[in-house]
Amino acid sequence: MAVYRIVELGDQVLREKARPVPEINKNILKLLDNLADTMYAAKGVGLAAPQIGISKRVIVVDAGEGLLELVNPEIIGSRGEDIAVEGCLSIPGVAGEVKRAEQVEVKGLDRAGKVVKVRANGLLARALQHEIDHLDGILFIDKAIRFIDSKES
Ligand SMILES: [Zn+2]
Repeated sequence: MAVYRIVELGDQVLREKARPVPEINKNILKLLDNLADTMYAAKGVGLAAPQIGISKRVIVVDAGEGLLELVNPEIIGSRGEDIAVEGCLSIPGVAGEVKRAEQVEVKGLDRAGKVVKVRANGLLARALQHEIDHLDGILFIDKAIRFIDSKES
């Protein structure tokens, strides 16, 4: 069990393009474990490796349907449009409406190195898009169409 400090806005690592993972080794498995521990400790829906200061293409997501771990994830299909309020563990106290695809299909590697395809909608689709954006140095505040006063939410 290792809970990491979550990197916050202003840290350069959040703006870097994270590096693809060439092979799944012990370090990557540990990274997946640490990401999940840190996400659950922070009560988040998802976490990307750059958010704990590691510039690698690794994410974890749990939108209430169980833990999903993905290495080198990429969006290979998307449909529809949906606007909803988002926040980010790296940007505490800020919330804003972001337009995302309503459904996505994501391809990546699981912890065994097997190619997996995930079809998602609703919160899971949103979380996957948010976390994959982190791997390209993109934050939800870059895409927010309206910020929500914290007293409202
Ligand atoms: Zn985030």
